[in-house]
Amino acid sequence: MSHLITLLIPCYNEELSLPKLYSALCEMAIQTNCNFEFLFINDGSKDNTLNILKQLREKDNRVSYIDLSRNFGKENAMLAGFDYAKGNAVVIMDADLQHPPQVIPQMIEKWQQGEYDDIYAQRISRGKETWLRKKLSLLYYKLLQSSTRVNILPNVGDFRLLDRKCINALRQMRESCRYTKGMFCYIGFKKTSIPFETQDRAAGQSTMSYRNLIALALEGITSYTTAPLRIATMLGGIISLCAFIYMAYVFIKALIWGDPVSGYPSLMIVILFLGGVQMLTIGIIGEYLARVFNESKHRPVYFVREYNNKEV
Ligand code: UDP
Ligand code: MG
Repeated sequence: MSHLITLLIPCYNEELSLPKLYSALCEMAIQTNCNFEFLFINDGSKDNTLNILKQLREKDNRVSYIDLSRNFGKENAMLAGFDYAKGNAVVIMDADLQHPPQVIPQMIEKWQQGEYDDIYAQRISRGKETWLRKKLSLLYYKLLQSSTRVNILPNVGDFRLLDRKCINALRQMRESCRYTKGMFCYIGFKKTSIPFETQDRAAGQSTMSYRNLIALALEGITSYTTAPLRIATMLGGIISLCAFIYMAYVFIKALIWGDPVSGYPSLMIVILFLGGVQMLTIGIIGEYLARVFNESKHRPVYFVREYNNKEV
């Protein structure tokens, strides 16, 4: 009996890429002896994506689609995919052909050997990306890794094959502030890598602006490590110690020489400096608190409007 492999593909405004992606997937599917489910998640696209998916479904029953009630973001869309995927293994990939389908047969082969549960694709090049984005990304992973015990892999994205075991584990992680890249590391299981070259986007534009990237980066830090809180504590300790020494100095100076009022500049510097540090640390606490607030609502991470022509 051959296995069923689900290809999980979140789509947001991908009307231009989808036809190319679909034909590339069909070509790839012929090369393997597996059955496939092409599971597209329409993440509240504003273009023709949904209609294209419906047409694909009509002519090919390997195609399934989930239509989310609005744009929830890729992280949430992926959870919807985990919930609906039927396969013995799931391959997560982008709709824009940046993740070349030719790598998938290699992943399946590795998986079928039975030794590994999570076969991730590791970029050897990053495609068309600005110099700044590359450098910032590498710096970010270095910082994140240095503050946590969980192993974080640089140059690894969501493009990977996951065994059913991993999918069942990921489905239990239903937090609303999601950093899926971190979850893959958190769940563990046997991992191995396959190198690949990132391609340029087939069509359309990336939604990952610097603003979105910064938001995702913050999500990564706050959901992975509490090191910033510890740094705030240490900063507080060091500043308190300095303040104490300075206090003793001022006190003794006043006792010995008296204290004609002076020192306006140093007073201003101390007030402004302490004010700044306090705001900063309150901000850090706030970032964590905001996430506690969001999590404590226990809201569903996504809502589905339609699954394969049927309302849900
Ligand atoms: N995507 C999504 N919801 C969003 C934004 C993006 O499902 O709100 C999908 C998008 O259709 C694509 C994948 O996530 O399949 C990666 O997005 P993108 O190419 O914009 O990001 P980048 O490759 O630049 O990181
Ligand atoms: Mg992309």
